[in-house]
Amino acid sequence: MKYDVIVIGSGPGGYVTAIRASQLGFKTAVVERESLGGICLNWGCIPTKALLKSAQVYDYLKHVDDYGLKAEAIDKDFEAVIKRSRGVAEGMSKGIEFLMKKNKIDVIKGSGKIKAGKKVDVTDADGKVTEYDADHIIIATGARSRELPNLPQDGKKVIGYRQAMTLPEQPKKMIVVGSGAIGVEFAHFYNSMGTEVTIVEFMPNVVPVEDEEVSKAFGNALKKAGIKVMLNSAVESVDTSGDGVVATVKTKKGEEKLEADILLSAVGIKTNIENIGLEEVGIVVDRDKIIVNDFYQTNIPGYYAIGDVVPGQALAHVASAEGITCVEKIAGLHTEPIDYGNIPGCTYAYPEIASVGLTEKAAKEAGYELKIGKFPFSASGKASAAGTKEGFVKVIFDAKYGEWLGCHMIGTGVTDMIAEAVLGRKLETTGHEVLKTVHPHPTMSEAVMEAVAAAYDEVIHL
Ligand SMILES: Cc1cc2nc3c(=O)[nH]c(=O)nc-3n(C[C@H](O)[C@H](O)[C@H](O)COP(=O)(O)OP(=O)(O)OC[C@H]3O[C@@H](n4cnc5c(N)ncnc54)[C@H](O)[C@@H]3O)c2cc1C
Repeated sequence: MKYDVIVIGSGPGGYVTAIRASQLGFKTAVVERESLGGICLNWGCIPTKALLKSAQVYDYLKHVDDYGLKAEAIDKDFEAVIKRSRGVAEGMSKGIEFLMKKNKIDVIKGSGKIKAGKKVDVTDADGKVTEYDADHIIIATGARSRELPNLPQDGKKVIGYRQAMTLPEQPKKMIVVGSGAIGVEFAHFYNSMGTEVTIVEFMPNVVPVEDEEVSKAFGNALKKAGIKVMLNSAVESVDTSGDGVVATVKTKKGEEKLEADILLSAVGIKTNIENIGLEEVGIVVDRDKIIVNDFYQTNIPGYYAIGDVVPGQALAHVASAEGITCVEKIAGLHTEPIDYGNIPGCTYAYPEIASVGLTEKAAKEAGYELKIGKFPFSASGKASAAGTKEGFVKVIFDAKYGEWLGCHMIGTGVTDMIAEAVLGRKLETTGHEVLKTVHPHPTMSEAVMEAVAAAYDEVIHL
């Protein structure tokens, strides 16, 4: 049972690493204790987007007369919406099974635990332990919903994201704690389905990591959609003794009691680093993350870690990129460390949010002199035709050398548009090069070119 590479965990970090390792000629195995595809395919990126697609179609149907059409008896079937999402996740997981076979990767079912001497023990469902050897062991065990001490999750009334995408019944009222991407995506989904949603956010803005203008615009959109937002507020405790939940919320004005059927705790993640042998092998961990170098090597030679278990943005595309970098380095290829300053982040609620690079505040704090351009979708022909005029594109350049410091978008389809800014920044494009790149008309992407034009006082359609 000897491999060149054993990967523990088959999320977008683990399975992508395994495929790249196999392409590079390594005899590779993946250890997985649940379904192939990890959180992303089974409980994260994909099933949430399936739920959000149902919400989008339902929202379109509710406004069908805006498009000169008629539809009667529009309704939803919550159970069928959930079932569709689970079906999509299952299909994706089967796809990974196929990819593992195609790439001749052994899938070892069970829980993996590393041991000294570059060994992995795998305990299967019957409790049988088998030992495997590898030259290189890559830990990609991911993360789970973080539980706050004052908000213990019972999985029924106080829930995490897994239960939020498989609820047997639609709640009438829901409290969402935390307004990061996961919190607002669920808030949007449930609100669209007809649940009365209140978001409780500790920070002064929703989606607090985003550029302030985007956060404010998104906060307004939430209110317009009928979602109640409590900023500068924290849930102190939750009482589940009655039929639903009663949350005690500390606000700037004092304490408030909120009643609901369900409370969703969306306050971040906790890494799966317990009971995987880190202590036995002597691998260094700091603040819930495994410490690695630029090429994902831990302090112990032959052991690596990638994905949510290491510092950096906890995103699927980051996990995959880390895994590829890690095995390419092992194979001796010339590979560059990942630029964590050029990672796009997307939120798939309504309106969508997408961003990369520095916010205006961060760029100012870093001492740059700025050229900022903004183009609203209300001035875009495509957005007018589509009836999706909310939002804008904002670009931030360094006034001195023209470096594209940041790009922030809010609006329909922006999550598919942000790659232009990521590529532009990777290729060290200046504003004038973007400006002289002919964009197709009519598209939402013209807003990028126009925002850049606005930064250089050359905007046409404003
Ligand atoms: C609701 C939600 C929505 C999200 N949406 C997005 C999105 O739209 N875009 C995006 O980029 N990111 C999104 N994310 C984040 C994304 O899912 C994670 O960043 C990504 O899955 C991390 O990949 P990973 O490979 O590090 O770990 P994971 O995907 O967590 O996979 C780890 C795997 O390891 C397995 N495992 C753990 N311990 C062991 C063990 N001891 N032995 C064997 N197997 C083990 C687990 O069962 C799991 O399958 C979302 C997350 C959530 C929760």
